[in-house]
Amino acid sequence: MNISTRRTTFLEECGVGPLWVRRYAVPYQEIVQIEYAPLETVAPLVPVVATVEPITPTVVTPVLSQIPAVDDMMTAWDNAPSSVPAVIVAAPKLDLHNAAADAVALKANIATMDWRQLKAAVAECTQCGLCHGREHTVFGVGDESAKWLFIGEGPGREEDRQGEPFVGPAGKLLDNMLASVGVKRGENAYIANIVKCRSTDDNGRDRTPSAEEVAACLPYLQRQIALIQPTVLVALGKTAALSLLALDPTTPVSTLRGTVHRYAGLPLVVTYHPAYLLRKPSEKAKAWDDLCLALRCYAPAAE
Ligand code: SF4
Repeated sequence: MNISTRRTTFLEECGVGPLWVRRYAVPYQEIVQIEYAPLETVAPLVPVVATVEPITPTVVTPVLSQIPAVDDMMTAWDNAPSSVPAVIVAAPKLDLHNAAADAVALKANIATMDWRQLKAAVAECTQCGLCHGREHTVFGVGDESAKWLFIGEGPGREEDRQGEPFVGPAGKLLDNMLASVGVKRGENAYIANIVKCRSTDDNGRDRTPSAEEVAACLPYLQRQIALIQPTVLVALGKTAALSLLALDPTTPVSTLRGTVHRYAGLPLVVTYHPAYLLRKPSEKAKAWDDLCLALRCYAPAAE
């Protein structure tokens, strides 16, 4: 028995079989000598060319240029057939820049006026809405070289009618207050207001002037102060005090009393408005204290 037969018999006895045998052997030389077809014999790849339609460029017109002018648009609206008539309310042309510039220019102009020019300017003034409801402007009254300047809020009904500040019962009380410090209307005392025209609400009742109305009118008072050159200022009531001191509208007058403030370099004393004192006579003693404080400011300058 040759080796191959014996190996087969051995494997069969072990249960491994049948043994698969290649029918013929491939010589080594045949394996390594496989010839490949030369590259040039391979059919060249045909490039795929996509056919794309040329794109025609679109000219885009800037959007803004497509918006018609306002006048053209309004005309188009007017001409457009419609069952509902178009109602176009033209908005008022606001030129805030020019308005602000005008206000600055006017203020500068007021600051150069003499008494005659100033009175004429106030009489003709339309700088705020209060001009529409007034009967008279109330410029102020008194000694134009006075050392005491009393400043109230603005004219009420009677003042508007007569063109003079502090008339009626409140005016009488103020006259008494002036007398207590040794002055009187027209003699070493001048009486003016923060605003020169009466401010009223929709029902025709007196109201506090707005911040805008105060700002519009204040240059007139500032010029009055510059022309009078008083020694002491007395603010009568909340509106006068807060407007001059540029304080928050919620500031109570009571917190401003008893202190010498300054306005335009001058001492300023705050006290209650005579109309308030008429409603609350118990506060008159405090007003007297305030006038004594003002007297202390005035006395050194008077010596
Ligand atoms: S309140 Fe003063 S600013 Fe207003 S219209 Fe009268 S004067 Fe002019």
